[in-house]
Amino acid sequence: MLTNFISVHYCYEYLINQIPVELLIYAHIPTSLSALLFGGYIFYKVKDRASAILFATCLMFAFWCLFSIATWFAFLGPNSTMFTWSLIDLTSILIFFFSYYFLYSFLTSKDLPLWQKLTSFIIILPIIFYTFTGIHLPMYDANSCEAIENDFVTKYLYFAEGIFILSSIIFVIKNYRTAVIRNDQNRIILTGIGVLTFLIFLFSATFIVSLLAESSVSQYAYNYEIYGLFGMPILLIFLGYLIVRYKAFDLKIFGAQALIIGLTVLIASEFAFVTTLSGKILVGITLLIMSVVGTILIKSVKKEIKLREQVEELVVDLGKANERLKILDVMKSEFVSIASHQLRSPLTSIRGYASMLVEGTYGKLPEKAVDVLKNISESARFMAQSVEDYLNVSRIEAGNMKYELSDFSLKEQAEKIVDEMRQVVMKAGLVLLFRSENTGSMIVHADIGKTRQVISNIIDNAMKYTPHGTITVIAHDDIKQKKAIITIHDTGIGMDEDTRNGVFNKFVRAKNANSVNTSGTGLGLYVAKIMLEKMGATVWAESEGQGKGSVFHIEFPLV
Ligand code: ADP
Repeated sequence: MLTNFISVHYCYEYLINQIPVELLIYAHIPTSLSALLFGGYIFYKVKDRASAILFATCLMFAFWCLFSIATWFAFLGPNSTMFTWSLIDLTSILIFFFSYYFLYSFLTSKDLPLWQKLTSFIIILPIIFYTFTGIHLPMYDANSCEAIENDFVTKYLYFAEGIFILSSIIFVIKNYRTAVIRNDQNRIILTGIGVLTFLIFLFSATFIVSLLAESSVSQYAYNYEIYGLFGMPILLIFLGYLIVRYKAFDLKIFGAQALIIGLTVLIASEFAFVTTLSGKILVGITLLIMSVVGTILIKSVKKEIKLREQVEELVVDLGKANERLKILDVMKSEFVSIASHQLRSPLTSIRGYASMLVEGTYGKLPEKAVDVLKNISESARFMAQSVEDYLNVSRIEAGNMKYELSDFSLKEQAEKIVDEMRQVVMKAGLVLLFRSENTGSMIVHADIGKTRQVISNIIDNAMKYTPHGTITVIAHDDIKQKKAIITIHDTGIGMDEDTRNGVFNKFVRAKNANSVNTSGTGLGLYVAKIMLEKMGATVWAESEGQGKGSVFHIEFPLV
């Protein structure tokens, strides 16, 4: 009994002299506690496979620290030293296995395949066997207060640990190469570096210690073992970063919570240093304020995250709605195009037959019937015009409008159109004039058919919206500015400012338009503007107000 006490006391003194006690405590206690806290917190919050395995790793690590520190202090005598020492190696191999298991399940969100679990078990089994049969540590050296390790078992342990490190490296590389998204690649790299640093630290510290112990280069080799522990905080930092930056474990308010908990622990630890009562009260109050502010902060962060998620969901919904609208728009254009084509041919027949009837091709008709037929023909013309507008819009929207560009005299074309339309305008009781104020030949480069269509359309509008008075078409040029301009004046219903600003938009018709013309579509000027812009020309409208007539300008660059 007495000898045992002396030997325990001797070993305690002996070991304590090898290393500063503070270093021993600081290396073991904070690292294992922070690992337990971190792993426990994540497991408590997430409760999925990866978090459970991470917690198991942290737990094994904490046991490792516990056995290690118990071995260091050796206060329970040789038997306890032998016991804890043997468990260190067993927990160590389990840490390696769980770390690999964590890496796998965290990055793939899957369970480790059965064959890998079985292989791992077969690798670990001998260590369990050697530990519990005492083959691993056959003897105790009372002089150096150390267990004597079985060399083969120690080597096997390093071999087994090496296999898990190698498997982790291969797994990380394979996973990285198959990842396509940049974020996934970063996640793999960060987790890989974190886990591998942790394992390599642990491995190299114990491996180096064994080498040194064998070669007896250093006086006391086991001092170095504690540096292996510092891999754990590094792993925790990497995991913390993954959680904050890449929303790992789906822990959204981890950053804020970790900050608050860290600050609270820091303030609480001041209790240990403050000796005076007033000091303790002050620390207490600070702690209280900290907890209240912290709770409010965490709540507001939670609220903000929820809001952000809602906004993100809305953005996704809006995106989908937008896609659907685009599809509907295409379908609508296709429908308009098909419908318009099918309307056009019967309209052409109606107009053709009506004019043949009027001309007497099928025999002379009574005066009244001729008048009715003229009305039919005129209505069919209006309708054909509207169908043409719809067709043009659907062509523009489908990007199918073709432009055949050539050089021609804008003045000549405008004059021709005026001549062609004069009859119709006169029939409507209006006067149509043409004036030329040009200095050159007004040659422009554009699609002649479309240019004529636009000019006719604007003169047609002037006729529709002018109950009585004059329409004047002026061709003029500006050689200096290299512009050719056609201006169409009328003395009609005019436009207020709102109408003037909107007339070139789709389906826009002024309120006063229906009083003089009910058959418009609100598309003519929209089509005109788009076609002119495609040909490098511009169009704009002026009016001094309702009842004061309108002016339309079409401006082309001169060749
Ligand atoms: P629509 O004439 O078929 O209604 P437009 O696109 O050609 O379609 O014209 C759009 C609108 O612009 C007309 O409904 C009318 O309100 C106005 N507008 C066009 N030309 C004139 C004009 N010369 N005088 C007054 N208003 C006009």
